[in-house]
Amino acid sequence: MPSAVRAMPPQPETAPLAQRLARRVAATGPLTLAEYMAECLLDPTHGYYTTRDPLGAAGDFTTAPEISQMFGELVGLALAQAWLDQGAPEPITLAELGPGRGTLMADLLRATRTVPGFAAAARVHLVERSPTLRAAQAERLPASTLWHNDVADLPENRPLFLVANEFFDALPIRQFRRDAQGWREVMITHHSAGFAFALSPPAPIAALDHRLADTAPGDIVELCPALPASVTEIARRLSHRGGCAFLIDYGGWRARGDTFQAVRAHERADPLAAPGTADLTAHVDFEAIARAARAAGAAAWGPAPQGAWLGALGIAARSDALARGIANATQRAAHEAAFRRLTAPDQMGTVFKVAALTAPDAPAPAGLVPAPETPPFADAARPTRRA
Ligand code: SAH
Repeated sequence: MPSAVRAMPPQPETAPLAQRLARRVAATGPLTLAEYMAECLLDPTHGYYTTRDPLGAAGDFTTAPEISQMFGELVGLALAQAWLDQGAPEPITLAELGPGRGTLMADLLRATRTVPGFAAAARVHLVERSPTLRAAQAERLPASTLWHNDVADLPENRPLFLVANEFFDALPIRQFRRDAQGWREVMITHHSAGFAFALSPPAPIAALDHRLADTAPGDIVELCPALPASVTEIARRLSHRGGCAFLIDYGGWRARGDTFQAVRAHERADPLAAPGTADLTAHVDFEAIARAARAAGAAAWGPAPQGAWLGALGIAARSDALARGIANATQRAAHEAAFRRLTAPDQMGTVFKVAALTAPDAPAPAGLVPAPETPPFADAARPTRRA
């Protein structure tokens, strides 16, 4: 819901980040979407995540762990189940990528207290670049928590139990439009009227050769250059040391279409207006996750729709148990709405997907079957999320 008290974003031509990006275009030419996203989201002084806590009703968007405690609880129990299935090793690295306010990890730690030995075995490591959000996480999480800037900095010497919710969708993407001659990259240029999209000359792109079979001239596809490196770091640790990673995001298997979007105050916004003041995301390609994981020696599971996955983990029973403890009718209605928001197909239940990675010989993670070997062709881009 739009907040009544939010200040208007700064005008694009006067804000420091917009000026810097405009100068960069003038000096070295148009930017890829990835270059633009990286600056807008994580510039150390003016970036979107670095300068604010964007989550919740008064912020720009909300996420599953902020909607209900049930989300972090069930993710935690799924991780603890994987830990038990793998012989309850200790010590372990318990990691989260992009933990936001630390809500998911706090709910996970509380729920897994019922699993003897899990909390004692776990050393909590967070991958978070935003100083603002690191401070919010520190308020909710144990004093022994450690922070890193990159997945590559996570310890290598222990089994890794990891969760990432809405982390990969914030990684910068490049976008390409197919034409008769090859791929034209969607670029961002700047002129007197402000920032605008432009197309580069057509060129062959080796990383998109596998998309020639399922696209036609005019189609748009996206690539997330940082995704394979992050997934490889996780998969390598899993294949050497064991563990399990749950990766949850909106997206699909080999998506097609333009999914680059900006959200501000719970509404879709123009991604080129007022750079650094809106959340910029894109759909996550779970096929790219499975490919990178398998290439690094791990097994890939899912993706399953979030609603079906939470259902398999028993969210309905958990929801009923919580509802019985809520005497106030308004609060109970809010709890029931949160349950529907997480699970209903027309809300977050279908567009959000849950995938997992493990060592090749590990038992199946809760609620998931092996990822497809031969991919079906993907859905077209869906228009909204995070509103
Ligand atoms: N997982 C949280 C927050 C999602 S928002 C939730 O579900 O509520 C995305 C999170 O990823 C933020 O914490 C943001 O600061 C962090 N982030 C985005 N890009 C990052 C990067 N490249 N490296 C580390 N953290 C990043």
